[in-house]
Amino acid sequence: MNAPEVTPDPALRVLRHTFGYTAFRGQQAAVVEQVRTGGDALVLMPTGGGKSLCFQIPALLREGCGIVVSPLIALMQDQVQALRQAGLRAAYLNSTLSAEEASAIERQLVGDELDLLYVAPERLLSARCQNLLDQSRIALFAIDEAHCVSQWGHDFRPEYIQLSVLHERFPQVPRIALTATADIATRQEIVERLALHEARVFVSSFDRPNIRYTVVEKDNPRKQLLRFIRTHHDGDAGIIYCLSRKKVEETANWLRSEGIQALPYHAGLEAETRAEHQTRFVRGDGVVMVATVAFGMGIDKPDVRFVAHLDLPKSLEAYYQETGRAGRDSLPSNAWMAYGLQDLVLQREMIEQSQAPEEVKRVERRKLDALLGYSEAATCRRQILLRYFGEESEPCGNCDICLAPPQTFDATVPAQQALSAIYRSGQRYGAAHIIDILIGRATAKIIERGHNQLSPFGIGKGISDAQWSSLLRQLVAQGMLGINEFGGLILLEACRPLLRGEQNFTARQVREAAPRAAASVRREIEFASDEARTLWAALRQCRRDLAEEQNVPAYMIFGDATLKQMLDHRPMSLEAMYELSGVGDRKLDAYGMAFLEVIQKHQRRL
Ligand code: ADP
Ligand code: ZN
Repeated sequence: MNAPEVTPDPALRVLRHTFGYTAFRGQQAAVVEQVRTGGDALVLMPTGGGKSLCFQIPALLREGCGIVVSPLIALMQDQVQALRQAGLRAAYLNSTLSAEEASAIERQLVGDELDLLYVAPERLLSARCQNLLDQSRIALFAIDEAHCVSQWGHDFRPEYIQLSVLHERFPQVPRIALTATADIATRQEIVERLALHEARVFVSSFDRPNIRYTVVEKDNPRKQLLRFIRTHHDGDAGIIYCLSRKKVEETANWLRSEGIQALPYHAGLEAETRAEHQTRFVRGDGVVMVATVAFGMGIDKPDVRFVAHLDLPKSLEAYYQETGRAGRDSLPSNAWMAYGLQDLVLQREMIEQSQAPEEVKRVERRKLDALLGYSEAATCRRQILLRYFGEESEPCGNCDICLAPPQTFDATVPAQQALSAIYRSGQRYGAAHIIDILIGRATAKIIERGHNQLSPFGIGKGISDAQWSSLLRQLVAQGMLGINEFGGLILLEACRPLLRGEQNFTARQVREAAPRAAASVRREIEFASDEARTLWAALRQCRRDLAEEQNVPAYMIFGDATLKQMLDHRPMSLEAMYELSGVGDRKLDAYGMAFLEVIQKHQRRL
């Protein structure tokens, strides 16, 4: 488009023309200005916050090439492809290139023919590469995933520590370090190790407002999961986390038998299969990945519409990171977890049986308790999550608790009955057996142990299994009950006042109708009518065709957010198309007509 535009601010101009966006988000503008004018920056922003533009735009505004250090090869390739789609001169240097390919790129760098160059850290530190940098004009250094310098974190990369030489060798080149890791200790470590003492620090809220958090009580997890997907995520891309490889395989097979495009991913698969599944997930439009936590690092697919946990994650940190892979594009997304007492038992066992030293176990127990507090929450889940990262907030209105506050009831008597059943049966049995006693089921095991003779036998007939199991979980969550190393429930000190009748116990009522709770989870894209649904499908098909033609992921043509705008605004000219968010100059030229034709054809049929 050549229409003269009155945008004096050069950063806004690049934002508009190259990326197709009209306004900066949050602190983006301030970060861009800091780096454009030659200052250093440390940027802490959640996943999906928009970190990339913070270095891409200053790199375009300054003379020379922006050097981006990134630890993950797959991610580099994706980012470079996406930048080329936007019409930029971007490339990467890593071990996947042949010697000839690499030297071609090196020549481009020295010849000042690149806007952005992504480099693996070990390569950047090599004498050869340092030499090249000496001969080139460098706009800035961006250090992505900067938490990799932290020796205490899970993504430690020794090469990252040596990146401080960049400052010594190129003191006049601004540096920008970026991470989505929230904690203060890591932040300090980044400053120290990368010598960023002079850097301005930009801290954003770690809230992900577009993610809706929901925890359901495990009843029949497969059925619950299937209902969740069918109701809310038909045809959407999503990730389902399971604890074991076996469960990953079984769940993926079963979902496929139910007609869902599901693929397994875990460390036990051949490297080739893993890579293929990952590519199909990233490129595809609506693939569901069933995975262990081995999957996820370095996936920056923006249109993952849901993350589901069939097993309890390791900690709230892990949960935040895993669920954070949903909704990078800011469109409504779901974080859904099915949870039951058995999960808790399993996690406790894993901690107790590990070879780790006692002080490590203590930390792990505390982390598990925090997770339990979240799972059993009676108040806003987002508040609990953010508070864990040191952020205070109001109830969010976008989690299951806010949307349908749980009912509570005075459960003093049933709680006492449960404690009594546990005590009298010798503090050795798991929840299922205790519930059998309370409800009065004369199973073989009950009879064999003589538990039908105990006074609490059948005392709790009027209460459902689900409510009993929820009550037991709440007693565990409140520290009244513990779990021994064999998964048996035991009484803890804190239950004494309750047993003696000196204290009441208020419990959450179990949600008997699971579908009702689920129904509150909105669909990601709302269709006003069947007609809209038809156009949506046609737009997606057009995107799929273009993506296949060029062998790039579908989202790189246009993101869901842009497609949704086409659906809502129905642009009938290229000018109107250019108004949409995500349509920059290059994409308008390359794809504008194709989508315009889809829309025009659809409108003519109406
Ligand atoms: P991060 O690296 O922080 O996880 P990204 O840089 O990948 O996030 O950005 C997430 C998504 O948000 C991308 O799809 C990006 O194009 C989009 N985005 C970033 N900044 C803006 C903006 N100012 N306006 C609209 N969309 C934006
Ligand atoms: Zn809430």
